[in-house]
Amino acid sequence: MSSQLHLAGAAFLKSLTAGLSEPSAPKSLGATTERSSKHNQAVIDAIPYFQEWREAARQVKTYAIANLDKLLVEFERNITARGATVLYAQDAAEANRHILDIAAEHEVKSVVKAKSMLSEELELNHVLEEAGIRAVETDLGEYIVQLAGQRPVHIVTPAIHMSAADVGRLFAEKLGEPYSEEHSKLTDIARRHLREEYLAAGMGTSGCNFALADTGTLVIVENEGNGGLSTSTPPVHVALIGIEKMLPKAAYLPLFLNLLPRSGTGQKLTSYTHLIHGATPGQKLYVILLDNGRSNVLKDPAATSALHCIRCGACINACPVYRRAGGWAYGWVYPGPIGSILTPHLVGLDQAGKLPFASSLCGACGEVCPVKIDIPHQLVHLRHRAVNEPSPMNSWTERLTWRVWAWFMGGPSRYKLMMAGVRMGVRMAKFLPWHPGKLGAWTRGRELPKVPGPAFRSWWRRHGNQYTQDQEGARSPLPPGEG
Ligand code: SF4
Repeated sequence: MSSQLHLAGAAFLKSLTAGLSEPSAPKSLGATTERSSKHNQAVIDAIPYFQEWREAARQVKTYAIANLDKLLVEFERNITARGATVLYAQDAAEANRHILDIAAEHEVKSVVKAKSMLSEELELNHVLEEAGIRAVETDLGEYIVQLAGQRPVHIVTPAIHMSAADVGRLFAEKLGEPYSEEHSKLTDIARRHLREEYLAAGMGTSGCNFALADTGTLVIVENEGNGGLSTSTPPVHVALIGIEKMLPKAAYLPLFLNLLPRSGTGQKLTSYTHLIHGATPGQKLYVILLDNGRSNVLKDPAATSALHCIRCGACINACPVYRRAGGWAYGWVYPGPIGSILTPHLVGLDQAGKLPFASSLCGACGEVCPVKIDIPHQLVHLRHRAVNEPSPMNSWTERLTWRVWAWFMGGPSRYKLMMAGVRMGVRMAKFLPWHPGKLGAWTRGRELPKVPGPAFRSWWRRHGNQYTQDQEGARSPLPPGEG
């Protein structure tokens, strides 16, 4: 079982959205994210000092990212002292080489995976499959999208776009189970199949929500118990950690354990919080610290707060663009506002320069972020970079288009000339031998506007005097809307 869809670059709206053409998908995605947002907000509103928590978390993360070099060394020293092997990886290829080497050394034939967006960055399922190693996702949502041959549509709830009926059909088709859409029966089926996988696996992989530098501890929060089973049952555990996950002290952990579940799922605490202090007897623990573009963020001082993200998904749930477009439209691992500010750094503006424009700048993302990342300003900053550096938004056609637009907007007579041309163009459209809806993505799904009446200026030229006189007598016809 492995994901059939591979990372397709990050060209917003040009990537794989086929699954969302299912009639129920956009509706269930929009309704569920909206419901989650409201529920989580109600939980947060019950805490009178939540804003103080957010500010404290912002300060801790600011310190951690500014001192990342020291904290990584401290973390490595402390966890190595407890039997772990720490490996660094500059990019996905190096991380995958480490994992394949570990698998070869321990003669691993199958791997159980706890949820990790980092492993999505590595396309680890695909890499393992090519090496002849079976990889099975154990988080229920990830298990479902893996069976369906899809990619996660959301970082916290990967199968949020699928209904219970969709999952029932999937389990019947792929696992040969009787069809059901009862939640408890579906989870029983998944649990039964996954138990076999834990027992057979030679290696378990996991992500990590926080890495505590002063104690050398991995912290994993989850709700299904699969994180505990994946990390403790197999004889080898490989933890994949983005370098930005460092917290300087264990003393700060309660603050983040208060913020993350409330903002992510509206829980006071997740069902399980695993603290892994090193290798347990009889098990090998490998820790892979991955950069994969994160140090690019550090090179841009105006953008470093993007590394403060604790992957709660609140900004995704709050985003009206995500609610309509879904996660795959963002073309890479991280969808929604966090994807729009992080992906351009991780894969390059030349690949993902369109993502910062996938926002209405309504500001909802910044308001809900538990670590106070100013996402709207980050988006504007990246837009500025995207139009000035090599990116899809800085092509000669874009530059020419905006120069022409700027010229027409540069004076009243030019503006009038442009509007006369627009009016004429819209009127002439009906005489075209082909429907202008075929012009491409811009007109697909949009109606051309009706031709407006004359502009207010020309109406005033013709009727202004009479209108002024009529103010003292009968009312003249109301001026038409501005054209
Ligand atoms: S940017 Fe903020 S709201 Fe969005 S996922 Fe990260 S921590 Fe959560």
